[in-house]
Amino acid sequence: MKQRVLFLGPPGAGKGTQAQLLAGSRQLLHLSTGDLLRAEVAAGSALGQEAAAVMARGELVSDALVLAIVRSRLEQQAASGGGGWLLDGFPRNVPQAEALESLLEELGQQIELVVLMELDDAVLLQRLLGRGREDDNQEVIRHRLEVYRDQTAPLIRFYGDRGLLQPVDASGEVESVSQRIDALLG
Ligand code: ADP
Repeated sequence: MKQRVLFLGPPGAGKGTQAQLLAGSRQLLHLSTGDLLRAEVAAGSALGQEAAAVMARGELVSDALVLAIVRSRLEQQAASGGGGWLLDGFPRNVPQAEALESLLEELGQQIELVVLMELDDAVLLQRLLGRGREDDNQEVIRHRLEVYRDQTAPLIRFYGDRGLLQPVDASGEVESVSQRIDALLG
């Protein structure tokens, strides 16, 4: 079974929902940089204060900051027996993907699968507006979709070139999408 997996796709595609389900059924660590950053914001830590304004604008927080978060979690996981993980929301640009590659090389691990969740813009917009999170208003959403196209979408090519990418139709019921993804892990 594949147990080192990345979730890639636009905001609203359901990465968090699907990663959480899969992590539960396959006993994998779910690592969501968005969730971890929101927890820092809620805790009012220095890190959270730095991230809050950037997140509210729908921009990306600094690579150094998210990388530090991801590094500490993956090192912890490797030290505690090297179980698998699902990364959701990271990497979000090519420099983050390159940094992840060298981190994994250090840990002696490799990505086994990149799940690309595909969904129409109209449906994405509808889902995000319905969610009502603080950074889910029209203007910020539009900006997050732009940031996705400009900075994150190049990762499709990046992981395609490495033979790791598997596109998945992210439309329809949560349960049907999760069956499609589950089948890819083997
Ligand atoms: P969504 O998938 O709906 O865009 P996330 O929960 O993944 O939401 O992320 C929310 C916000 O957190 C992003 O808009 C961004 O500001 C910040 N963020 C999350 N992950 C990263 C990352 N890897 N690099 C930079 N910023 C990030």
